Amino acid sequence: MSNSQIKKLIIVGGGTAGWMSASAIAKVMGPRVKITLIESDEIGIVGVGEATIPPIKIFNDLVRIDEDDFLKNTQGTIKLGIQFKDWYKKGHTYHHDFGPIGKDLGYIDFHHYWVSRVLNGSNESLWDYSLNNLAIRQNKFDRIPWIADTPVAGLVHAFHFDASLYAKYLRNIAENMGVQRIEGKICDVNLNPSNGNISSVKLENGNLIEGDFFIDCSGFRGLLIEGALKTGFEDFSDFLPVNRAIAIPCEGVKPITPYTRSSAQKAGWQWRIPLQHRIGNGHVYCADYISDDEANEILLNNLDGKPLAEPRMIKFTTGRRKKFWNKNCIAIGLSSGFLEPLESTAIHLIQSAIVKLINLFPHNGDNQFLSDEFNDYMTSEFDYIRDFIVLHYHANERNGEKFWDDMRARPIPKTLKHRIELFREAGIINLKDNDIFKLTSWLQVMVGQGIMPKKAHPFVNTINPNDIENYMGNLKSIMNNAVENMPSHGAFIARSFAARPIV
Ligand SMILES: Cc1cc2nc3c(=O)[nH]c(=O)nc-3n(C[C@H](O)[C@H](O)[C@H](O)COP(=O)(O)OP(=O)(O)OC[C@H]3O[C@@H](n4cnc5c(N)ncnc54)[C@H](O)[C@@H]3O)c2cc1C
Repeated sequence: MSNSQIKKLIIVGGGTAGWMSASAIAKVMGPRVKITLIESDEIGIVGVGEATIPPIKIFNDLVRIDEDDFLKNTQGTIKLGIQFKDWYKKGHTYHHDFGPIGKDLGYIDFHHYWVSRVLNGSNESLWDYSLNNLAIRQNKFDRIPWIADTPVAGLVHAFHFDASLYAKYLRNIAENMGVQRIEGKICDVNLNPSNGNISSVKLENGNLIEGDFFIDCSGFRGLLIEGALKTGFEDFSDFLPVNRAIAIPCEGVKPITPYTRSSAQKAGWQWRIPLQHRIGNGHVYCADYISDDEANEILLNNLDGKPLAEPRMIKFTTGRRKKFWNKNCIAIGLSSGFLEPLESTAIHLIQSAIVKLINLFPHNGDNQFLSDEFNDYMTSEFDYIRDFIVLHYHANERNGEKFWDDMRARPIPKTLKHRIELFREAGIINLKDNDIFKLTSWLQVMVGQGIMPKKAHPFVNTINPNDIENYMGNLKSIMNNAVENMPSHGAFIARSFAARPIV
C-alpha cells in the first residue's frame, strides 16, 4: 500500500461504528494513513447495541483485543444463543443457539436423522443435540473448543456488553495507535464541484477538516452519505414494519444467564440482555398497532428488576442505503441502514463492512470497480439478514392477534419463500460460503417457528437404524457429561473477567 494516494482518512462519528473502524484501520494501515475521527459529545451515541454473534471474535483478533480484558472493561457476559419466547405461539419457547447441532454422519447433515426419527413418532427435541443449549439449561459455560477426547465440537460463544463502554474501550486502543480525535459538531459538508467528491467538513467553531476519503459513522442521520451525497434509501418497511424501540436498563438478578431473551409482545418484541452490572431491556414495536404509552407499559411490566434510568425512545425505518460506498465516502453503522436487533446483527454488519473495506482499500478515494464490489457485498449482507428476520415474523401461529395475523399474511421476499419451500419439501438448507447464518441457524428458527420437512432425506435409510440409534444416544451422553463438568456462568465470570468497578 506504499503507493496509496489516500493520506488523510476522516471518520465522522465516535459510536461503535466510528471507533471499530478507527481501531481496525489503524491496526492494519499503521502510520501510512493519517486517521482523524470527529465526534460530538453534545450529540452523543446510540449506545444500545449490547448483544453480538460469534464472528466478533475475528474482529477482536484483528485488533488484538484480549477477550477477558475487553469483557472486564465493558461489564460483559457470555452469550450462547437467543431464547425466543411466545414467537411461534403464546406459551411456546425455542432457541437459536450458536454452535453445531449434533455431528454429521455419512453423506448427509445431522438434522436429517433427527427429522427421520421425529417423522417416525419420536418426541425428542432438536436442542437435545446442541451443546450450547444443554449448557444454557444449566447456566453453565467454559471455553472448550472440543469436548476432550472426542471429535465433538465444544461451546461456541459471543458476548453481551455495554456498548457505551465498548466505544470507550476501542477509543483508547485507537488513540494509542495514533488516531486523532476532534471534539466538535459538523455544521457543513463541502463537495468538490468538479467531481462531486467530499473535500472537507466544517465544524461549528469554523475549523475546516479536509480529507481524501471519508467514513460516515454519524448514525441514523447519515450526515455525509445522505445529507451531503443524497444517496437514497431502500425501505424494507413492507417486510419489516416495526419502527420504534424503547430501551431501559434495570437491576440485574442472579443467576446471570448466558443468553439473550426475545419475548414476542402484542405488536413487536422485547429484548433482555444480562450484563454484569445490570440487565439491558428494550421493546421494539410497530407504532401503527400500539401507542407509545402502551408499549412503554408493556416494557415496564416485564422487567426483572428496578429500572435504573428513564425509558429512551428511538424511532427508525428499516432498510439500507441504495449505495454504501458513494464517491469518496463509505457509510458504516447506523448511517448505512438499520435492521431491528432481533438477531444482534448491527455490530456484525459494522465489522463486515470494515473487513470488506480493508480488503478493497482504494489507491484513491473514488474507484467505480471497488465501490461496485463493496456495494454488491453489503447489499447481499443486508438482504440476507432481512430474510432471516422476516422468517421469525412470517411463520407465526399467534392467530387472532392483529399485528401477528398481518405479519403472517404480508408478502415475503422471493429468496425467503424459496428457502422455506426447499426445507419444507426436502429438509434442505442451501447456503453460500460467506452467509452469516449457517445451516444450524436456519434449522433452529424454521423448526422453532413450526416448519418441519415433509420427508427425511433418502440417504438416512442407507445406515442401519440400530447404528443411528447408538450414534445419537452416544452423542447425547458425551454432551451431557461435558456440561456436567463445566463451571456455572457466574463462576466463570468471577474467575476470568469480573468487571472493574465503574468510576
Ligand atoms: C434499539 C436498538 C437496539 C440495538 N441493539 C443492538 C444489539 O443488540 N446488537 C447489535 O449488534 N447492535 C444493536 N444495535 C445497533 C447498534 O447500537 C449500532 O449499530 C451501533 O451502536 C453503531 O452505532 P453508530 O456508531 O453507527 O451510531 P451512533 O452510536 O449514533 O454514533 C453516531 C456518532 O456520530 C456523531 N455525530 C453525529 N452527527 C454529528 C455531527 N453533526 N458532528 C459531529 N459528530 C456527529 C455522534 O456524536 C456519535 O459519535 C441496536 C440499535 C438500536 C437502535
